[in-house]
Amino acid sequence: MKVLTKTSELREALAQRPRGTVGLVPTMGALHNGHRSLIERCRRECDTVVVTDFVNPTQFNDKNDLRNYPRTLESDCLLAEAAGADILFAPTVEEVYPEPDNRTFPLGGVGEVMEGASRPGHFNGVCQVVSRLFVMTNPDRAYFGEKDFQQIAVIKAMVRLEGFKIQIVECPIVREADGLALSSRNRLLDAPHRTAAPHIFEVLSAAQQKVGELSPSRLEAWVTGEIERNPLLKVVYFNIVDSLSMQRVGAWDDATAVQGCITVQAGAIRLIDNIKLK
Ligand code: AMP
Repeated sequence: MKVLTKTSELREALAQRPRGTVGLVPTMGALHNGHRSLIERCRRECDTVVVTDFVNPTQFNDKNDLRNYPRTLESDCLLAEAAGADILFAPTVEEVYPEPDNRTFPLGGVGEVMEGASRPGHFNGVCQVVSRLFVMTNPDRAYFGEKDFQQIAVIKAMVRLEGFKIQIVECPIVREADGLALSSRNRLLDAPHRTAAPHIFEVLSAAQQKVGELSPSRLEAWVTGEIERNPLLKVVYFNIVDSLSMQRVGAWDDATAVQGCITVQAGAIRLIDNIKLK
């Protein structure tokens, strides 16, 4: 596996690869088995596998979060190589943004709710960096995790806006044995909050059994109440949404795929998760 930091090196390495499909797995590093599952899938489906490892400042609306974000390049290289990556691209901020990026992406409704509402500017920053990585690598396919369910809808909207001919591949959430969705931020949880965190998925799983019995808005309230029974967990939002538009649904309707999307504040750490409800 080649570890590269310059865009020119990346372009050269890609030009030298044998013909075939290129797959891209964009990450912010601190790689774990969730990332591994994306890289392994990309390896199975593409001739060249590029993993990017870049903590993108433009998607952080909270300076402390950016400062504290874990950075573990050495172990990331080991994991990416073991999972089958050909290239790990770990550029500096100056390399990705030689000049400030002032673009705004008119994402419409998918970008305005949930993470869009509670982290202003976050999705615009995600679109800035992912569109740059798409131009740099020119992939046939790009792999994203359903852990960031709304992000996938945002990326698809950006791909339509920019006219990229790239297939967006959605990969299932990888969880710890106790149900907690793997996240680079989990390592920042202190012991009491780490012990509390699996309660989120326990309640989401129980919510699946209540579809139909409770209306969507009652189920939203039920999930919030059940999670907050644990005083260490504070629900930022739990929205039951149409899986395509990300807008809240008023009723259960057989024709609409429905997802429950949640963000929980566990002390200083924000945890996000979601579950298919219909
Ligand atoms: P991040 O490094 O957190 O920006 O994540 C990079 C990619 O890995 C995104 O597409 C995430 O959705 C995906 N990802 C992160 N955690 C998981 C997980 N537990 N299961 C599946 N995919 C994940």
